[in-house]
Amino acid sequence: TVKSPDISREKSSALYETAKGYFPGGVNSPVRAFKSVFGSPLFIEKGDGCFVWDADGNKFIDFCCSWGPLILGHNNPVVKEHVLKAIDNGMSFGAPTALENDLASLILSNNKKIEKIRFVSSGTEAVMSAIRLARGYTKRDKILKFDGCYHGHVDSLLVKAGSGLVTFGETSSAGVPQSFAEETVVIPLNDKDAVRAAFEQFKDQIAAIIIEGIPANNGLLIQDKDFVHFLRDITKENGSLLIFDEVITGFRLGFEGAAAYYDVNPDIITYGKIIGGGMPVGAYGASAEIMGNISPEGSVYQAGTLSGNPVAMSAGIGQLSQLLKPGFYEELLSKTAGFVSDIQEFADQRGYAFKIFTIGSLFWFAFTDKDIKTAAAIDASSMQYFKVFHRELLNRGIYIGPSGYEVGFVSAAHSQAELESAKKAIFDSLDIVFLK
Ligand code: PMP
Repeated sequence: TVKSPDISREKSSALYETAKGYFPGGVNSPVRAFKSVFGSPLFIEKGDGCFVWDADGNKFIDFCCSWGPLILGHNNPVVKEHVLKAIDNGMSFGAPTALENDLASLILSNNKKIEKIRFVSSGTEAVMSAIRLARGYTKRDKILKFDGCYHGHVDSLLVKAGSGLVTFGETSSAGVPQSFAEETVVIPLNDKDAVRAAFEQFKDQIAAIIIEGIPANNGLLIQDKDFVHFLRDITKENGSLLIFDEVITGFRLGFEGAAAYYDVNPDIITYGKIIGGGMPVGAYGASAEIMGNISPEGSVYQAGTLSGNPVAMSAGIGQLSQLLKPGFYEELLSKTAGFVSDIQEFADQRGYAFKIFTIGSLFWFAFTDKDIKTAAAIDASSMQYFKVFHRELLNRGIYIGPSGYEVGFVSAAHSQAELESAKKAIFDSLDIVFLK
């Protein structure tokens, strides 16, 4: 295998130079700046099905899929039609619309993990609201989170583990007061003893445990079923709530997300991404009793000018109604499983220290031969392999997120033929990584 020539980035580079004059670091969200890979960001011009095209006209098979929302691929005709239909009637009213009822009904009649829902405009907003609800409901302040889980840029969750097994969090961003971080207790994933110790140390103070349905923001850290059930039990025993952050896993592992996968009933679930079909939507839901604490019914305040935006609701209806078609998830999951196992087989035959962690239609390429379930188990030095891999993939027409800690997404729009050509590019890129 020979290294591929670098793709042309002339127009993307020029756009990036201009963008640097407008935005901090030239971007509106940090990971887009390509800081942990070679080169500078590609400016995307359009997407269709499983493909994206950049400003220089390079065409890629896209496994980033806007970081998850596009489970049907880009420019899905039904979603597009729903957006156009809604726009005909105006873009926002700040008043209730029937479309909110329609999307809620579609969700609540097919996802029995929640009884009532509230729509917001991003995953961060959903988590922020869920945390406030848990605190208001339990009348407690502390939140227990796991090292390696990301829950959006909520102040009290931009917190990393301190040095002990169970620690007050330390802020991981400037601008977050240490006093906020002290309301967050950070512990390692998949570690029952650490959870028990936290409940002993902070007895009657923990409002909730929050965990990603499947932690998928710092590698794909698939938790043991037994651990998740343990979290359900210990929160119940201690009068705390269990929050599942399903911003990635919701409607992706299945219509009822990771909660159904683990057969667990969390107290509050947050959603985002897929629920809006590519438009800015998030949501949180719980039992009718817990949701009764939200304003104007209850005393926990939460609001939004663009919440339940009609265009976004309509896009969500267009998307979610397609996911409910019989066999949708089965097909997507079996397609992903075949794709991933072929790549794993190739790497194993070659003896490469490369492992794909996968669940549902999510996958994570890791340069390791270990089973990884915690953030601490990821070897940061393995990211140097990812950098080369990423460059080689781009040069062969494969677009994945520009960080070795991020997961990839297979969509319904990835056909078998495209997965075959992606596999070939992945094999060749692995050969370059390991034989260089
Ligand atoms: N929670 C999880 C699990 C996420 O993956 C993300 C975003 N990747 C968020 C919350 C925040 O969502 P948003 O970026 O829409 O604010």
